[in-house]
Amino acid sequence: MMKLSLFGQKFTRHSGISQLMEDMNDGLRSAGSIMLGGGNPARIPAMEAYFSELCREMSAEGTLSEALCNYDGPQGKDTLLNALAALLRKEFNWPITAANIALTNGSQSAFFYLFNLFAGRNQDGGMRRVLFPLAPEYLGYGDAGLEEAMFVSAKPTIELLPEGQFKYHVDFDNLRVGDDIGLICVSRPTNPTGNVITDDELIRLDTLARQHDIPLLIDNAYGLPFPGIMFTEARPLWNPNIILAMSLSKLGLPGVRCGIVVANEAVISAIRNMNGIISLAPGSLGPAMANRLIEKDDLIRLSNDVVKPFYQQRLAETLTILRRYLPPERCLIHKPEGAIFLWLWFPELPISTEALYQRLKQRGVLMVPGHYFFPGLEQDWRHTRQCMRMNYVPEAEQIERGIAILAQEIERAHRET
Ligand code: PLP
Repeated sequence: MMKLSLFGQKFTRHSGISQLMEDMNDGLRSAGSIMLGGGNPARIPAMEAYFSELCREMSAEGTLSEALCNYDGPQGKDTLLNALAALLRKEFNWPITAANIALTNGSQSAFFYLFNLFAGRNQDGGMRRVLFPLAPEYLGYGDAGLEEAMFVSAKPTIELLPEGQFKYHVDFDNLRVGDDIGLICVSRPTNPTGNVITDDELIRLDTLARQHDIPLLIDNAYGLPFPGIMFTEARPLWNPNIILAMSLSKLGLPGVRCGIVVANEAVISAIRNMNGIISLAPGSLGPAMANRLIEKDDLIRLSNDVVKPFYQQRLAETLTILRRYLPPERCLIHKPEGAIFLWLWFPELPISTEALYQRLKQRGVLMVPGHYFFPGLEQDWRHTRQCMRMNYVPEAEQIERGIAILAQEIERAHRET
């Protein structure tokens, strides 16, 4: 029996994310299973071909060896920091320089840093928390606090839309930002729902954060200007009180583990120091590739011309298939505005979506039950057991087989009651 510290006990627990990752691995191993569960980006042939060619080029010119054989600085490779700053200035007119950007080993580790920088126990013994102003929210946040009970989330309002769709909104009338809140965090586009909170909602959150003198963290893993998996008009926002997290993962490079944080210089300096202590330096390969992508003017071009249309096409196919098997009376769909997921709501389902998930898993179909996506929600809310997340990453024919089984299991659950 290992004698573990409190940290050891907390971080070796079987978290929601570990269960999910194990299921995804099991799914990958067992032939024939239909993986609509995980958040792995699609293998887009044109992107894979591009990355292979890029590696060949970099190998020939020596930049690959340079990246493989050297540590970058703890803030990340400075040529990329400069190139990214120039790109964001040009795209959005934001007043930023390399001193406003730090790289991390994936944006997931940036969230770990940032949550624990701004929330947790402070010098006076008080406890501060991270507020998710709109749950459902990304399940990867929920276990990333060094302390217990570090997250609070707020229920949304639900707008019903035509054709069996709906959209969540921030419930500003009931949103409480107490003195115990140290950071507000929102993913935009949102994993799991595909929601993109509106410009107006974002501006109101920004104002609230500034009124309370706490940062607003916006997780832009799917957003603009790259990978650009957004199907609605919405403007990215940054100012020195906003911390914007980005990533190379959803462009198709999850393996290089490259996260990007854009923030004021004090936050960037904190991240640089944490990087130094925790990992010496972020990995060099992703930044070297991103740097070449920017030099060749391909980062935004590929996002707009390859990645976004790929997912948009998959999304359209998946919506058509879903409606062929499941009418609005059985299944409502969150308006898909971005990211790579559909969020399904079964208001009349007689069993919980956890039970439905188990039944689907038995039949080789993996989706994620909704209750994982409410980190820190204090009230019991039936809605959390009525939703399910599926990705639209596999090919249409596989998605159709998965949805056919989903529809059968839903009918079976209705028949049983
Ligand atoms: N944020 C969101 C909303 C995500 O969906 C993911 C991955 O699925 C991440 C952050 C973490 O991505 P990475 O650590 O690969 O940058």
